[in-house]
Amino acid sequence: MADVIVIGGGLAGCATAYYLAKDGVDVLVLERSELNTQASGSNAGSLHAQIPHDPFVNKGPAWAQRFAPSIALMARSIEMWHELPGELGVDLEVSTKGGLLVGTSEEQLREIEAKALLERSHGLEVSLLDQHDIRQLAPYLSDRVIGGAFCPIEGKASPLKATLAYADAAKRLGVHFRRHCEVLGVERAHDHYRVLLASEVLLAKRVVNAAGADAGRIAAMVGIQTDVQGFAIQVAVTEQTGPLIPHLVYSAGEKLTLKQNAIGSVLIGGGWPARWHGRGHPVTDPDSLAQNMALALQTVPALGPLRVIRTWAAVVNGTDGWRPILGEVPNSPGFFMNFFPWMGFTAGPIIARIIASLVQDKPVPLDIDYRPFLCH
Ligand SMILES: Cc1cc2nc3c(=O)[nH]c(=O)nc-3n(C[C@H](O)[C@H](O)[C@H](O)COP(=O)(O)OP(=O)(O)OC[C@H]3O[C@@H](n4cnc5c(N)ncnc54)[C@H](O)[C@@H]3O)c2cc1C
Repeated sequence: MADVIVIGGGLAGCATAYYLAKDGVDVLVLERSELNTQASGSNAGSLHAQIPHDPFVNKGPAWAQRFAPSIALMARSIEMWHELPGELGVDLEVSTKGGLLVGTSEEQLREIEAKALLERSHGLEVSLLDQHDIRQLAPYLSDRVIGGAFCPIEGKASPLKATLAYADAAKRLGVHFRRHCEVLGVERAHDHYRVLLASEVLLAKRVVNAAGADAGRIAAMVGIQTDVQGFAIQVAVTEQTGPLIPHLVYSAGEKLTLKQNAIGSVLIGGGWPARWHGRGHPVTDPDSLAQNMALALQTVPALGPLRVIRTWAAVVNGTDGWRPILGEVPNSPGFFMNFFPWMGFTAGPIIARIIASLVQDKPVPLDIDYRPFLCH
């Protein structure tokens, strides 16, 4: 019997396994496919700390108040991102030159200001910029941009490297990984869990559900209802060019994030919907691509000559409320959720550290309040 079975070999699962093993716990990770092939390896690599602008505007002040405790979690997680290359022994291309939310209308600037007020009240450093400030800080932006907000701790890291670096470090600490191993059922039996595979039953004292967009399906196996969903979204990347965009840029208008990665390619996304292929996997939607590229060009005209060399679609783990679901599930002792919606790349390290401590019933070794998101 394993001490802990972790379901899911994305960032959430591999990082949780690493922190558990670091504390001496015996861990087995079960992954349906290959490690890092779903959201964790296909995301846009942004390290976010700001409240996302779209839901702030469209879901209203009560939503923003409920979301706000996530700010401190993400900010503290970004601090961990800086420590990870040294700890895991891999260059994760972590760079935080700041995030720039830009507006093109007076109404957007008012929204940005209201959002910054709330963010500051939760301890996040955010400065408001007028058109002159923006020109000084980001001369690559178009003249349509009339102001914005700058959050100095935001940036980027490599989704191609991070999860695998955690997995390799976990392996060195003795964690076992089984790939192409789909969990079909989870049953509670006295003081342990039975984890059902296609032709085998595994036993574990505790189970961590880190199945990303499928976390709701796994939770339902032990009778827990969640509002977890998988949303198909897409990203595009350009050919390489010289240093152009040091910041993580967001638009306060339509969906846009863009950043330049370590090799000089520009990643362009923002959550544009992809299409579902008939057989059930996501594919790039050309209409979304065209609108996303048009918006990118309107924001950074110097992107014009660059060719887009690749687009891809993947499924992000979301909930309507953007609420993380963390910790031991009441009435299912020993069954733990590690679910951080929409921005689980940024939050991956800190959530994994928190869950690894909760699984061991030990104090979390971080000065951070995660209690608003515990399962109840
Ligand atoms: C296109 C895109 C862009 C994004 N951009 C960003 C960004 O810039 N910044 C940011 O912070 N976040 C971003 N995200 C979100 C972020 O990638 C996710 O929130 C995060 O990676 C979730 O990690 P995870 O480990 O929980 O899920 P996943 O990486 O999806 O891993 C879950 C794993 O569980 C496995 N699994 C599922 N069911 C079973 C089963 N029954 N048995 C065994 N294994 C199972 C899956 O195969 C998968 O490997 C983006 C997501 C997408 C899709």
